[in-house]
Amino acid sequence: MPYRGRFAPSPTGSLHLGSAVTALFAAAAARRAGGAIVCRVEDLDPPRTIPGSETEQLEDLTWLGLRFDEGPVSGGPAGPYRQSERHGLYEAALDLLARGGHTYLCDCSRAEIARVASAPHEGEEGPRYPGTCAKLGMEPRAFKRPPAVRLRVPDGPVSVIDSVEGLVVADVAQAVGDFVLRRGDGVYAYQLAVVVDDLAMGITEVVRGDDLRSSAPRQALLARLLGAEPPRYLHVPLLVGADGARLAKRSQSSTVSGQRALGRSPADLLGALARAYGQTLRGEGDPAADLAETFDPRRFPRGPVPVPAFLQTEAA
Ligand code: GLU
Repeated sequence: MPYRGRFAPSPTGSLHLGSAVTALFAAAAARRAGGAIVCRVEDLDPPRTIPGSETEQLEDLTWLGLRFDEGPVSGGPAGPYRQSERHGLYEAALDLLARGGHTYLCDCSRAEIARVASAPHEGEEGPRYPGTCAKLGMEPRAFKRPPAVRLRVPDGPVSVIDSVEGLVVADVAQAVGDFVLRRGDGVYAYQLAVVVDDLAMGITEVVRGDDLRSSAPRQALLARLLGAEPPRYLHVPLLVGADGARLAKRSQSSTVSGQRALGRSPADLLGALARAYGQTLRGEGDPAADLAETFDPRRFPRGPVPVPAFLQTEAA
């Protein structure tokens, strides 16, 4: 199968340096394999989507010199490339799972259900669902509130191919239990949408932040229940502040547009970030093609990567 990678930003604010480095690595991995890279905008949750953020993020990616073979602007054969325009595919997948007896309706009230349309980043996962509604199936009943749809997670090991670690086995039933595929208000869950899209777009390797590592077994399981083999996964260690804490979202130095305003050049910015991950950019031409020559994720540091000190100060 020809290599197809993707970068899947959520238009919920400015493009973060951690997202920029992930985009660089996803594009370099695709170039190295002689494949294609797709940009998919994950605007699944209307209230979290910030108007203008998609345009700003795409402009930042262009400023960095990162190009996509397919995406919301250039289009392509696997479009549309915005999740808000792909609901029919999610509905069809949900129908398929329901026909296979893999889903049930759940009217338990849990704060977790509200959050499921967004990718669960570090510390955002709720507790394991105890399966209260599991026996009740998809039949309409007197619901306390519009019901969510949950996946009936089978017991047993789920295997994932990690591009660095090789075969990894996890137990989704133990770790998270039956997870939500669609909220009661009709909004599709990140876990469902991302799997449907990765399969429909023919993605062969997912390159993304390490905080989504724990989502990979759920996604591999869903892919197989939908009758397909999941892609393999490469998780990029998180970029953190010098103190090891998450990069402050509001700090100017933690976004691409902020770095640009501080006078940094794309080559300096990507060069410093790549170095922090054990990678080398010569700083000439297309950064993804440049990095593709030497890109080796086995040289990623183990664990979080402190943002290079000079990116935290104003450019000279
Ligand atoms: N849209 C997600 C985010 O920006 C990424 C999801 C993924 O790569 O699977 O956090």
